Amino acid sequence: MKTFALDFYKDFHCIMGDCKHSCCIGWEIDIDPETAEYYKNTPGDFGKRLCENIDFHEEGGTFCLCENERCPFLNEKGLCDIIINLGEEALSQVCDDHPRFRNFFESRTEIGIGLCCEAAAKLLIDKKSPATLEVIDDDGEETELSEEAEFFALRKKVFSALQNREKPFGDRISEILKTCSARLPEKDFSVWAKIYKKLERLDESWTDVLEKIENSPELPKDFDETSAEQLLWYFLFRHLSEAPFDGRLSERAAFAVLSFYMTEKAAEQVGIYEAARLYSSEIEYSDENIEILLDIISEEV
Ligand code: SF4
Repeated sequence: MKTFALDFYKDFHCIMGDCKHSCCIGWEIDIDPETAEYYKNTPGDFGKRLCENIDFHEEGGTFCLCENERCPFLNEKGLCDIIINLGEEALSQVCDDHPRFRNFFESRTEIGIGLCCEAAAKLLIDKKSPATLEVIDDDGEETELSEEAEFFALRKKVFSALQNREKPFGDRISEILKTCSARLPEKDFSVWAKIYKKLERLDESWTDVLEKIENSPELPKDFDETSAEQLLWYFLFRHLSEAPFDGRLSERAAFAVLSFYMTEKAAEQVGIYEAARLYSSEIEYSDENIEILLDIISEEV
């Protein structure tokens, strides 16, 4: 089976102490059972500190967040004390993996990098050449599944439509929606902002952005088409991948387009990098928020 990754995957590096919105703040961080066991049995003063700051339970453990919801091992310089004391190999699976995500299929695995990370967002948005996937691992075993092959063929058409730089951007979006038999509900962006305001929230600065969008109902304009292409490619790549399993291809395509527009609307307030980071953290990491938006899309088209 092959493993594919974004063509810029290997260029990603955590910027650690320079990160303004560390993923070690504000999120509940779980520890897999094997790593939890290792932490529990770590000797010395650092082992004691691990035991005092982890809630161990049946499924492994969870870091007990400090004030301001910081991971207890994130030091004042923005560096990880677990890496400093025990080395990178001592990280739990979630810490080691984040912000990478995986699309699992029967016949392949695909790896992407989530935009909730500002370093990942910058890497994607600054990319000039069309995004693509490349094979990073191949165990030689082939699994041919016709349903998945159909999905990959359709997705290829969607990506080709998006990356056809000869065409105006609006036409490319229309072609993507047509290819997926999808349509966005007819709502202006002030209505969408009101809907997004009712969703689960992590950061109140997202509320401020949505309040400004409420007063700006028109389609986003004046965006850079190359970064817009990368952004929409990412949303399609990430969210269409569930379609072979839940059958919601058209809703997911519409959701990807809506996510793109909402991020560009947010970018009018806070700039494109921060808009991508905020949108991804607020929406993409909440299954509940995604489900609500998919349901609204399916009810109204
Ligand atoms: S959000 Fe990204 S750059 Fe920031 S600490 Fe996490 S992985 Fe590193």
